[in-house]
Parts: sequence; structure tokens; C-alpha cells
Amino acid sequence: MTSSAASIASADFVSSKWIEAFPDDLSSIERVLQHKKLSGTSDIVSEYEVALAEWFGVRFCVAVSSGSSALIAALKASGVGPGTEVVIPCTAPIPSVLPILALGATPVAIDTEPDSFGLSLDRVAEVINPRTRALLVVPVWGYGSNERDVQKIAVDAGIPMIEDAAQAHGSTIGGQKLGTIGTVGCFSTHDNKPLATGEGGFLLTNDEGFYRRLRSTCHLGGLDGRHFGFNFKLGALAAGLGLQRLGNLERIVAGKRAVAQKLTSALRQYGFFEVSAQPENCPNRYSLVLRTPNSNGDDLRRYLHDRGIESDIIKYGYRLIYEHSLFEGTGNSCRNAEALLRTSVTLPTHPGVSSEVIDRIVEYLSDMHRIG
Ligand SMILES: *Cc1c(COP(=O)(O)O)cnc(C)c1O
Repeated sequence: MTSSAASIASADFVSSKWIEAFPDDLSSIERVLQHKKLSGTSDIVSEYEVALAEWFGVRFCVAVSSGSSALIAALKASGVGPGTEVVIPCTAPIPSVLPILALGATPVAIDTEPDSFGLSLDRVAEVINPRTRALLVVPVWGYGSNERDVQKIAVDAGIPMIEDAAQAHGSTIGGQKLGTIGTVGCFSTHDNKPLATGEGGFLLTNDEGFYRRLRSTCHLGGLDGRHFGFNFKLGALAAGLGLQRLGNLERIVAGKRAVAQKLTSALRQYGFFEVSAQPENCPNRYSLVLRTPNSNGDDLRRYLHDRGIESDIIKYGYRLIYEHSLFEGTGNSCRNAEALLRTSVTLPTHPGVSSEVIDRIVEYLSDMHRIG
């Protein structure tokens, strides 16, 4: 935090993230405790999996201990391991890519389509080779784009498309929910995500064979001594909380969309427009991503951050994946993605963004616009 950000009165500080408690949290935990069994093989966990599959409209769900374990399981079940490659967009954040390293495989980071977090279709076609085991798509801040086109390429190549939809609960493309388009969708329910259970995650798929591999991979290989596996099970307390909170998810996403809508329409007059704004695209607006073609995104993010509107990009040191030393050499010179990051600003959309906060953001940006 810079000195100017530190001097913002705490009442005026708007965090980029929001943690919410709900009236029924306690009773949902009590209900689990009454069942006594708290481990991942509790009936409560199965109930939660059924409810998630239903909410997303898929056949199968496996609840897991984190979004990271969801990704490791999805990659492992796709045959990812030493000597294999996984194609990723260079806009993928660190937690999307660590699981690939965990399995000893090589991430191949490629450019995105213009004005999009979606994989460049031309580049995908160029980099797929016999070592490629999966295409990983990452709709950051809930913004899907060309997932359906990437899925077609994956099907043609005979490899899975894995969706890291860890921030994309409720986002849709052409009416289809993200996390249900590829072979497998990976979600996180970490405290900051739209559905929150402290730590946690889940996997979605419609493919029965893949589901069996996922379940075995997350449940110690079924302890049969023939199959490899991890213990990635979600505990029953978190599952009970998730089951209860799933009832709020529709409303949480609607709230984010409403805040985003107000910010977007108020800021249009200053030349801001939303990323990936195709009519068939309905992101959850986990954070609102606006493009600022007339100004430098770095300056703008810093300007707002210093006035107490915390920037997600600054807070997490978000940059293109190959610009982190840990991922050096996984990609380079991705022009579309570089332009996207250079001209984007993220704005919070959580319940703490009141009309007063919206007015403040608009005032700051109109001042900046006037000064130039
Ligand atoms: C949060 C997140 C993860 C990791 O999830 P955890 O539950 O924190 O392990 C992975 N990918 C993306 C895009 C995320 O936002």
C-alpha cells in the first residue's frame, strides 16, 4: 500500500474484495454437527454435490478442498504429467498455472484474441502438438469469450478443454454457463469467490468416464492400490455451508451485475467500455473490467488505488504470466494481451459499492478526464 493509500480514512477505503456472512450460516453448520460425520464422505457432501450439479445443469460434480486441487485433479485426469504440455492464455493468473508445474508438465502461454481473455484460435492451432494434453481456458474476473470455439478445437484434437472458472460462477455465453462448456469445469469457493466456504472448490463434468477418473483422483485413487490419487476431499462443515449459501448465489451475481451496469453507463461518457462486450456474453462481473483506450491503465489504476478504490490488479500484482520469474520462458510478446492489460481497469462490484461509492468513482474519473 502506498503512503497516500494508507492515509485514506478507513471509512472511505473500498476493498477490491468482500467477505459476507449470512443469517443461516450458523444453522447450516449446526446441522452438519448433528450428523456427527465431518469428513468428505459424509452424506452432506454428496447432497452439496447434487445441489451444485443441479444449479449448473450438469450430470456430475466432485466437491474438493480448493480450486487448486480441482485444477490438479482435472489436469491429472487428462493425462498431464512430466513431458506433456498444457496450452494456457498468457492472461492466466498464478493459481491457474501452479497446478501445471505441480504435475511436472510445461505450460505453453499464448496470446489472447483482441479485447478478450480467450485463447487466440490461430495460436492454439499453431502450438498444439502430440505432447499437448489439454487446453486450459481462464475467464478472469468472470469474463468468458470464445470458449465454445476453443472447445471445438479441443474436440477435433481429441484432448480435453479444462475451464478454470474459479471466478466465473454464473457467467454465461449464449445462455450456457461457464464451467459446463468444456470436458471439465474447475471452481474455487475460497472466501473471496462468489460462492464462498472459506477454502474449497468443485469440479463439474457431463462425461461419466471423466467423472469416475476425477472422483478416484480426488479420493486417494479409491484406495485400491492400483490407481494413483490425492486426498482432495472437501470436509462436511464447508460443504454444509456451501449447500446453504448456494441459495444466495443467484442474488449475489445479480447484485454484481447491477453495480457493474451502473458504473458502465456512468463511465461511458468518458470513453470507458466493458471488455468482451458481445451481446451473447453475460459475465458475472466478479470484478468489472473496463477498457480505457484514451489513458494509461497503469496510471489510472494507481490514481484510483491512491484514492481508496483498491485495484485488484495492483493488490495481486497481476501481470502476464511470463512476466513472473517463476513462469519465465512459458511465453513471450503477446501483443493483444499486453494491449488489453495496458488499457484496462478493474472496479469492485460487491455490496460495499454503494451509490455513494459509485458517485465517488465517477467523480474521480471525470476529474481525471478533465485534467487529461
Ligand atoms: C481462486 C483461483 C484459483 C485457486 O483457487 P483456490 O481455491 O484458492 O485454490 C485458481 N484459478 C483462479 C482463476 C482463481 O481465481
